[in-house]
Amino acid sequence: MSENQFPETKTCPQCGSEMKFREGTSKAGKPYKGYFCTNRTLNKETNVWEGCDYTEFVNDNPAPTWQPYEGTCPKCGGALVWKTTAKGDKMVKCVNGKYDFATKTASGCDYKDFPK
Ligand SMILES: [Zn+2]
Ligand SMILES: [Zn+2]
Repeated sequence: MSENQFPETKTCPQCGSEMKFREGTSKAGKPYKGYFCTNRTLNKETNVWEGCDYTEFVNDNPAPTWQPYEGTCPKCGGALVWKTTAKGDKMVKCVNGKYDFATKTASGCDYKDFPK
């Protein structure tokens, strides 16, 4: 992975303005990376941002490639897919299990298996 895997700027799909790449830590202490539309200003009287609210978060570990796995989830009946973890291990997961990279929280079905 190169240092410059994300371009510095992008065009906002919502308003066409320039978006700037920024990373930092939120007030809740969660690290973030993403593009923030520059077409917004902080109203100093109300302390509210005004203008375009488009934000696009990115993550360092893009979702691995998913391949279908035979059978269905014993927990919820959903489809199963192969997943390769960041370490390169193979596992089977239910497609109804979701992971939100922006908030780093998992939701939905948590079924997983490690077939031999
Ligand atoms: Zn915008
Ligand atoms: Zn499931």
